[in-house]
Amino acid sequence: MKVCIIGGGAAGLMAAINIKNDDNKVIILEKNDELGKKILVTGNGKCNLWNSNMNTSYYNSSTPELLDNIITEDLINKTFNELCYLFAMNEKNGYFYPFSNRAHNVRDILVNECIKKGIEIKTNYEVKSITKKDTFIINNEIECDKLIISTGGCSMPITGSDGSVFNLLNNMGHDIVKPLPSLVPLYANESYLNKWNGIRCHAVVSSIIDGETKKEEYGELQLTDNGISGVCVFNISGDIVKALEDNKNVSVSINFINYLECPSDYFKEQYSDLTVYDVLLKFLDTKLIKIILDKADINPDAYIKSLTTKELSRLDKYLTSFNINITGYGDFNKSQVTQGGVSLKDINPDTLESTIINDLYLIGEVLDIDGICGGYNLGFAWMSALKVSDNIC
Ligand SMILES: Cc1cc2nc3c(=O)[nH]c(=O)nc-3n(C[C@H](O)[C@H](O)[C@H](O)COP(=O)(O)OP(=O)(O)OC[C@H]3O[C@@H](n4cnc5c(N)ncnc54)[C@H](O)[C@@H]3O)c2cc1C
Repeated sequence: MKVCIIGGGAAGLMAAINIKNDDNKVIILEKNDELGKKILVTGNGKCNLWNSNMNTSYYNSSTPELLDNIITEDLINKTFNELCYLFAMNEKNGYFYPFSNRAHNVRDILVNECIKKGIEIKTNYEVKSITKKDTFIINNEIECDKLIISTGGCSMPITGSDGSVFNLLNNMGHDIVKPLPSLVPLYANESYLNKWNGIRCHAVVSSIIDGETKKEEYGELQLTDNGISGVCVFNISGDIVKALEDNKNVSVSINFINYLECPSDYFKEQYSDLTVYDVLLKFLDTKLIKIILDKADINPDAYIKSLTTKELSRLDKYLTSFNINITGYGDFNKSQVTQGGVSLKDINPDTLESTIINDLYLIGEVLDIDGICGGYNLGFAWMSALKVSDNIC
């Protein structure tokens, strides 16, 4: 049996390693001049490859009801064992990294394993056509019995995954859920953005779509000259991108002081003899203090005890629900993962085989499944690869 894997990223490499045995021939076709290029940029070069808290609630899909059939408890346990064998891993707050702290090492371990197992590797090989009669014929020259597509989504095309294979899959009859960026910075059009550029703080951010609060995330927030960024923003960005595509009204509410239930009450109790500015200095970046007081229309030199009830309530409002209208989002060059892809309705959840073309399997980001930050996207690449391997061997 000859198995062809198109795309030598995380999912493709993991599948190749687990499928190769003495009785089959496995070949990886990769358009880049090297394998696993995207792995190198993951986790800021440290590769956050798994999370101890792994379940379907951390994943999105346009058919979320199908996720439970794909990501099962058994698959999670099996994948974790495989990762422990391949990479010595270190856990920090549930996030798993390789002990080496280097994404390069993760990539090299996978590639070395492929070489050791005798997997044929063709780099600089872009797949542009796939036909199927009894067997598959790729680019009119390579024949195989089983075909695995692990070409990723459209995010960070510089690493090779540019979404071009979606057209091929669509022509073969698969439904493609419109690929859109996710885990991206969000853009706004406010006059104060250049003043808060560069601030990093911890905050709670909530997405508000057509007036309804959707998702809430806590984490490090980066205030930029064109909007907001950081892991907590990335984690609410998927729904926001979709809502903006649908021309909905989107804003993000920021709670800069989530650890105080009612900041003004606390300030009156603890710091009534200080000026507003001096109190806020204990909590916030000076550039942010100026923006908040300006918006709340409060004199920075006024004493806390002298503020009117209305002023105190405005202060609370801008400290705990600072609203920013979102007008755009980073493109695929800025996004860590692609939402959308091959619809889960067109695959068998137990095997990840296409229900449209026999012996064709889809794994990794090419499918309409995306996870939040924290090792979930590589997590799915590994899990889907192992699921397919089980069914091909
Ligand atoms: C900056 C950044 C940081 C990230 N950090 C993390 C992290 O820390 N943890 C985490 O879990 N996830 C992270 N991710 C997401 C994660 O990297 C991806 O979800 C994961 O690598 C997807 O694996 P894949 O194998 O499905 O696709 P890819 O890794 O994209 O691999 C697809 C491969 O297919 C090849 N290919 C595409 N088309 C063709 C073709 N026509 N012919 C031949 N080859 C083709 C591409 O060149 C590529 O090598 C990050 C992503 C980015 C961009």
